[in-house]
Amino acid sequence: MLTSEAVVLRTWPVHESDLLVSFFTRDYGRLKGMAKAALKSRKRFGGALEPMTVARAWFAERPRQELVRLDQLEILRSPLSAPVDQARMAVLSFYAEVIDEALPERDPQATVFRLLASVLEQTNAAKSEMALPPSSGPQLSGPQFSGPWMALTYFSLWMTRLMGLLPDIGHCMVCGDTLSEGEVRFNAYADGLFCGLHANGSGSGLSADSWQLAQRMLRAPAANFAGEAWPRKRGQDLRRFTLQTLERHLERKLKTAEALARLGG
Ligand SMILES: [Zn+2]
Repeated sequence: MLTSEAVVLRTWPVHESDLLVSFFTRDYGRLKGMAKAALKSRKRFGGALEPMTVARAWFAERPRQELVRLDQLEILRSPLSAPVDQARMAVLSFYAEVIDEALPERDPQATVFRLLASVLEQTNAAKSEMALPPSSGPQLSGPQFSGPWMALTYFSLWMTRLMGLLPDIGHCMVCGDTLSEGEVRFNAYADGLFCGLHANGSGSGLSADSWQLAQRMLRAPAANFAGEAWPRKRGQDLRRFTLQTLERHLERKLKTAEALARLGG
């Protein structure tokens, strides 16, 4: 029997009450397992099969089988402990899809695991935009308000970096010149950033705030940014840049990105 801290990514019902579970373990990487009678056994699984639950998992390899046998999950942190909020749920689904698509099975990725654990903490701690009373206006720029957008921005940027898709963002990919605020550009066809001369006329600009943010985020933990004001428009161009990069390398559109776009993320 093996055990590891894990994050539940997705589940699919099979047969009567069994579930196929994709989960990302700290020690063994992403795994797929069969949870027998999962829908009946509250004792072994409780509410831990909700996607993006952080849990202690017990599982076993099965001879000549691709799927492990998932025996038990014990909740460490549940996304359901925070009030349900549409934006937060959409962000959590995005994490699940990216991890599920980007990581090969059985490939330990401790750094990605730490990234996911830290952004989950920030996402679940973020105050719901909907839950704020109208009179709380000034708080919108205070430390209580970060929304899930900071965590989403941090996750997308770092996933791009950890997948090796984010070259040095201080210099133009073509000429190598140091980029300067106001002339930092990106496009849908190539990794990295470009100066005004080599932007090829296509693509979009990266705002000065987003460019600085990216450089700071690559040097500091997510928790450092929770105290800043995070209206949903902040970092939107940086999220578009990293999403384009991820989708280009995965060679498909991410379904959950559409939901985020509808929410203005
Ligand atoms: Zn250039």
